[in-house]
Amino acid sequence: MSPTVVNLIYLIAGILFILGIKGLTKPSTAVRGNQLSSLGMLIAIVVTLLNAEVVNFTYIIAGGVFGAAVGAFMALRIQMTSMPQMVALLNGFGGGASLTIALAEYFSVLNVDANSFAELLVPVALSSDAFGAGGEGQVTLISIGLTILIGAVTLVGSLVAFAKLQGLSKKNIGLPGGPAGNALLLLGAVIALGCLVISPNQAVTVITLVALALLLGLFLVLPIGGADMPVVIALLNSYSGLAAALAGFILGNTVLIIAGSLVGTSGLILTKIMCVAMNRSLGNVLFGKMAAAGEKIDADEIYAGKVTSAQPDEVAMMLEVAKRVVIVPGYGMAMAQAQHAVRELADSMESRGIEVEYGIHPVAGRMPGHMNVLLAEAEVPYDKLVEMDRINPTFEDTDVVIVIGANDVTNPMAREAEGSPIYGMPILNVDKARNVVVIKRSLSPGFAGLPNPLFAMDHTLMVYGDGKKAVVEMTTALNQI
Ligand code: NDP
Repeated sequence: MSPTVVNLIYLIAGILFILGIKGLTKPSTAVRGNQLSSLGMLIAIVVTLLNAEVVNFTYIIAGGVFGAAVGAFMALRIQMTSMPQMVALLNGFGGGASLTIALAEYFSVLNVDANSFAELLVPVALSSDAFGAGGEGQVTLISIGLTILIGAVTLVGSLVAFAKLQGLSKKNIGLPGGPAGNALLLLGAVIALGCLVISPNQAVTVITLVALALLLGLFLVLPIGGADMPVVIALLNSYSGLAAALAGFILGNTVLIIAGSLVGTSGLILTKIMCVAMNRSLGNVLFGKMAAAGEKIDADEIYAGKVTSAQPDEVAMMLEVAKRVVIVPGYGMAMAQAQHAVRELADSMESRGIEVEYGIHPVAGRMPGHMNVLLAEAEVPYDKLVEMDRINPTFEDTDVVIVIGANDVTNPMAREAEGSPIYGMPILNVDKARNVVVIKRSLSPGFAGLPNPLFAMDHTLMVYGDGKKAVVEMTTALNQI
């Protein structure tokens, strides 16, 4: 195939990726968006393989079949609550793939026996244009070095993030000196990268670079608390894209550069959105602790003698006379797997002519879009999921808000308590509604570790219990009225 034809087809694949991402911005077009991106990827893979004049397809087909089988198995088995872990693993594999491409390209030029460690330590004779003539050689070497650095950080960092989210590693251990220790590792890696560009004939520089980058990935993510992992995962997602784009430069593959850049930038945008929605800087997520800021707030002072609890059947009576109800889901709905029960309660209310909408906070749950995905799984119509900015002005005209397993995203302290760690975080103003019902198991705090004055307000009723059980009981009671 002529390079022009190949690049033209790559361009079509790139356009399909962009249309795919655009489709993913709305639930109603998300499935189509996914299909378009997949088609783009299929075209890119087929053209790359045809263009590469592959002599033997055996390993490629075997790898493809094995990978597709593992991928399909994981996608079918994965629970929605475990999605962040799955994304972490996929990012890690992306980083690992770029790392191995860079190493394969380097060692294929060096032509040393990778099985013999001693041989790797001895400089080899290389012609000055072994990696390309003049500037081209330097671009290739810089790309190899950066791909190794970012790919290795992404690989190990993502595996640590996976382990934390899976509850396999609970300790937040960092290097002595914290960020300074990591800065030293990074400095060492940059020096090794520089040595690689200056003397590419010494494999020992590449081995040092790999080792330092693996350690950096480990110690960058190990100290970060498990609950901050979704932001870290978005960032690692961006790194995996960057590593892929750099691998595209090594291989001279345009579509890899396009796809990698798209992943890199979208990951970065997502990271920024999450930080803004949590009112935290990226530096605070990476190097700080959420509850460290601000003075300690005494929960007893806020709750003592002021909290009113209710049973599901009492809430049902309240719903029966309501005209408009807004359901606000949070992390607890995911934990209780209550999305189907919530949909049934909404159906029951709607059959009585009650207007029902869902108020969705951008960081409700533990990953962006967590609530949308769960409610879509329960076949809640997309147009009923209303974003924070649009639902907030409607709370004053809402008879009942049912908060199910949400806490921080409804905490009025974010609006009022200057100095509180969540001060400034945009929230759902559920306290403006006429009545608020909060379903959760206790008065325990949410992710931010703060008490929530909403629970002690005069117009708030607490329904204690597992989210699913409480909602099912409410529906049963409502259906019996
Ligand atoms: P929260 O973490 O604030 O609160 C969740 C509440 O759910 C808890 O208070 C808990 O109370 C309750 N809960 C747990 N299990 C159950 C159950 N089985 N049944 C009923 N309730 C249950 O959740 P929000 O969604 O309000 O807020 C998300 C938080 O996560 C924010 O602070 C956000 O910044 C943070 N975050 C979100 C990210 C994202 O991308 N979405 C990323 C990183 C952090 P109890 O134990 O009493 O039942």
